[in-house]
Amino acid sequence: MHDSVKNLSDIKNKINRNIKIIAVSKTFGPEKIRPLLEFGHGHFGENKVQEAVKKWTDLKKKYPNINLHLIGKLQTNKVKLALSIFDYIHSVDNEKLAKKIFDEQINQKKKIKIFIQVNIGDENQKSGTDKIKLKELYSYCKSLNLDVIGLMCIPPISPNPEKFFKELNILNSELNLKELSMGMSSDYLVAVSNGATFVRIGSNIFGSRYVK
Ligand SMILES: *Cc1c(COP(=O)(O)O)cnc(C)c1O
Repeated sequence: MHDSVKNLSDIKNKINRNIKIIAVSKTFGPEKIRPLLEFGHGHFGENKVQEAVKKWTDLKKKYPNINLHLIGKLQTNKVKLALSIFDYIHSVDNEKLAKKIFDEQINQKKKIKIFIQVNIGDENQKSGTDKIKLKELYSYCKSLNLDVIGLMCIPPISPNPEKFFKELNILNSELNLKELSMGMSSDYLVAVSNGATFVRIGSNIFGSRYVK
């Protein structure tokens, strides 16, 4: 069994079957991804639009049923390209971006699934909407009939991310949303015990990413 497939199976054995594991393949080439595709894994994540288009255009033709998730920041000028390849966007955090997705969905006659990213630790440099603006942004997305399925966060680096996961879970329930995107290699078990339905796991599956 290929390493990545074994790693994925180990993770699956630790968590509930209903939780979806997004294998985050950023920086890894098709040769590293293929064993998981052949194993039948269905969810993959990338953080850069151009990298995803290059890597996944052919792979998606061969494996049309897989779901590709954009988990990194999205600039409005890349929405058109993003919608051509991704099935989910986890990083919607402002109205301008929401409107651009609305317009482009009409142009491309498709509808993708959306998570609103929340700056759960109120960090200056982090992406995500401020918590106090969340309800307004959510209402705006609903007014455009966007398919918002849940909230997403990347908690501050801390030995105890649990309180951030708990807080996002509460915000998610207040909006009556069903899905919750949180948890990475280092903290996915904590995220899962606090309600995550999608975890985003890179290095625990593919190995460490080297700085290019
Ligand atoms: C890279 C990345 C991940 C996966 O990180 P690992 O620590 O390798 O599991 C998850 N979420 C986001 C938003 C990322 O950019």
